[in-house]
Amino acid sequence: ENGAEFIVAANRLPVDLERLPDGSQRWKHSPGGLVSALEPFLRSHSGAWVGWPGVADVEVDEFTEDGLRLYPVSLTADEVRDYYEGFSNATLWPLYHDVVAPPEFDRGWWDSYVKVNHRFAEACAKVAAQGATVWIQDYQLQLAPAILRELRPDLRIGFFLHIPFPPTELFMQLPWRAEIVRGLLGADLIGFHRPGGAQNFLWLARRLLGLEPTRGAVGVRTRPGVIQLGDRAVRVGAFPISIDSAGLDALSRKRETVARTQQIRADLGNPKKVILGVDRLDYTKGIDVRLYALQELLREGRVDPAEVAMVQLATPSRERVEHYQRMRSDIEQVVSRINGEFGRIGRPIVHYLHQSIGRAELSAFFSAADVMLVTPLRDGMNLVCKEYVACRHDLGGALVLSEFAGAAAELTSAFLVNPHDLDGVKNAMHAALTIDPAEGRRRMRALRRQVLTHDVDRWARSFLDALDPEHAH
Ligand code: UDP
Repeated sequence: ENGAEFIVAANRLPVDLERLPDGSQRWKHSPGGLVSALEPFLRSHSGAWVGWPGVADVEVDEFTEDGLRLYPVSLTADEVRDYYEGFSNATLWPLYHDVVAPPEFDRGWWDSYVKVNHRFAEACAKVAAQGATVWIQDYQLQLAPAILRELRPDLRIGFFLHIPFPPTELFMQLPWRAEIVRGLLGADLIGFHRPGGAQNFLWLARRLLGLEPTRGAVGVRTRPGVIQLGDRAVRVGAFPISIDSAGLDALSRKRETVARTQQIRADLGNPKKVILGVDRLDYTKGIDVRLYALQELLREGRVDPAEVAMVQLATPSRERVEHYQRMRSDIEQVVSRINGEFGRIGRPIVHYLHQSIGRAELSAFFSAADVMLVTPLRDGMNLVCKEYVACRHDLGGALVLSEFAGAAAELTSAFLVNPHDLDGVKNAMHAALTIDPAEGRRRMRALRRQVLTHDVDRWARSFLDALDPEHAH
C-alpha cells in the first residue's frame, strides 16, 4: 500500500477499542475537536492517524474507519502504567501545570517514556510516504520529533503542545530537561498556545543547549522565533487552538436543543439562576475553588439558596492516579456540605454528575446556564469556555473565566478572575449573577465575535501553513 502524505501522531487514536463483557471487541468513535479539525486535511492528503487504541496488551493491525487510515501503536500494561499514567500524567502534567500537584520523578517511568516515544516514531517512519508531513501532538510524545528525524530526514515534522509550557524555573526541575528540549527540536515547527510558552522554550534551548535563536525571538506573537541547528531552521511560535464554533452554534439553535434546554431548567426546578461548571475531574480545573466561593456567597446571604441551582459536570479522568482519587473525594465532600447546609428535600443546590456526556446534551446545558464558571488554576487553552460562548446565540449568559486559562488572552470580555483569590472569584460570580441584561449582551457579543472568527479550522490551517509555506492550506 502507498505511504501516507499527511500523518497525525497522537497518544490516542480517534477511536477507542472497547472490550465487551462477552470478550469481544469493538471500536467506539471518540470524535474530539482535533479529529474534526484535521479530517479535511487527512482526507484530501491521503492521511493517516498513528495512536494508541486506549487498551493495554492488544495488537491490532492497521485498518480504515470511515475512510480514515488508522495505525494502532500497542502498549503493554506496564507501559500504560509507566509511560502514560506515570511519566505523562504524574510527572509532566503537574510539572507543566505550575506544579499545582507535586510532580514525581521516577527513572523507570522515564525509561518507559523513551521506549514508547521510539515506538511512535517508528510507526510514523513506516507509514509516511517520501517527503510526507507528520504532525506530532502533545506532551506524551515530546521525544518523537527527534527520533523520527533520525529515521526519516526527508519528512516535514511539526509538533504542537496542547498543555502550557512551564516557566523555565519549573522546567529546570526535570532531570531529563535537555533530552526533552532536544527531542522537540527534531521538529521543523514547534507550536504552543501562548507566546509566553514559545518564549520559555526559546530561552531554554539557549540555556540548556547553548543554541542562539537567530531572529524573531522577541516577536513570537507575529513571527515565529527561529533556532538554527546547522543547516536546519527550527521555528517556534504561538497558535491558540479553538473549537468548531459554527458547528456548535448550529447545534445550539436546533429545535431539539432548545427543548432540551427548557427541560433541564425545569428539572432543576426553574430557578432564577442556573450556574454551570463542566470539566474533566482534574486538580488543575479549580472545581473546588468555585464550590468554596458559592458556599461563602450562600453563607453570607449574597446568594439566595431559593434562587440558584448549580450543575457541576465532572467527567471521570485518570482514575488510577492517586492524586485524582483524593481530589475527587474532596470535591464530593464540599458538594455534600453545600447541599446539607442549604438544600431542601427534592431541591439540592449543587447537582453533581460524575459522568461524561455527549455534545448535543452539553450544548443544551450551556444554553441553560446563566453563569458559566471556568476557574482552572492553570489550563493550556480550555475549550469549554469557548464552547459555552459558541452556544449563546441568544447573547444570554455570563462567563467567569480564570486568568490562568490560555483562553483568557482571547476572551477578555469575560469576568476574568484569579482563582487563588477567593474574594475576587466571589465578587465576579456575584457580578455575573446580577448582571444587567444589556451589559451581559454587550459582553457576550464581544466574546462571540472572537470565538466565531477564530475556530479550530483557522488554528489548524495557520499551523500547517507555517509548517509548509509552499502548500498554503
Ligand atoms: N466534554 C465532553 N463531555 C463531557 C465533558 C467535556 O465531551 O462530559 C468535552 C468538552 O466539550 C471539551 C473537552 O471535553 O471539548 C474538554 O476540553 P478542555 O480543553 O476544556 O479541557 P481538557 O479536558 O482538555 O483539559
